[in-house]
Amino acid sequence: MSKIIDTHTHIYDKQFEDDFDDVMKRIEDELEGIVSIGFDLESSLKSIELANRYSFVNAVIGVHPVDIKKYNDEVEKELERLALTEKKVVAIGEIGLDYHWMEDPKDVQIAGFRKQMEFAERVKKPVVIHTREALQDTLDVLKDYKNVGGILHCYPGSLEAAKPFLDRYYLGIGGTLTFKNNKKTKELVKELPLEKIVLETDCPYLTPVPFRGKRNEPVYTKYVAEEVAKIKEISVEEVIKITTENAKKIYGIERKSNE
Ligand SMILES: [Zn+2]
Repeated sequence: MSKIIDTHTHIYDKQFEDDFDDVMKRIEDELEGIVSIGFDLESSLKSIELANRYSFVNAVIGVHPVDIKKYNDEVEKELERLALTEKKVVAIGEIGLDYHWMEDPKDVQIAGFRKQMEFAERVKKPVVIHTREALQDTLDVLKDYKNVGGILHCYPGSLEAAKPFLDRYYLGIGGTLTFKNNKKTKELVKELPLEKIVLETDCPYLTPVPFRGKRNEPVYTKYVAEEVAKIKEISVEEVIKITTENAKKIYGIERKSNE
């Protein structure tokens, strides 16, 4: 029986400090695996460390648009070295644009985003994209890198806007799908082929119903899988099987030998 891969976690977050071992045990028991996503050099290094410690963890490294100030030549050089030498680095991210927090002006964010798209292209890795209130500018950048694919994490747009990118991008669907009045994402999931969906938590954030408001954790992806199944009128097993295949494909995660 297939198990879920949580394609987007911040498992090194302080909120997991007190019961980290229990959280990891639940992941090991219930899921196929998780991907730990960095937002700067330090959290990228933590992600690599966890990936090297746990067989079911893989790492994604990069600098988030909210932290783009930290992206300089030295950091880029170090991230590039890690991407090329650390076997469990499966993608570059999370990178993109965030016009909600607006920590830096648009042009600074776009320049940092482009640099990291070029970095991903050089090291031949997929990307994990963060986009908030900046969809059109984000897609305009992606258009220029036809050799790079990946995951549009927590994708906020319409299927129509995503269509030109679906040949090389998957859409990350998470806890917000379970919110009763999130008609937009429910509609998107209904129309989007299952072959283009990966499951994610973005934990400790964006907790699904029935734990909305509390800390999120990877095993809660099952509530997202159940909601996808309900919307698409298919079995949960089918949702898990296909989305896990998708995650393995995009991240190039090897099958476990005991499968
Ligand atoms: Zn994230």
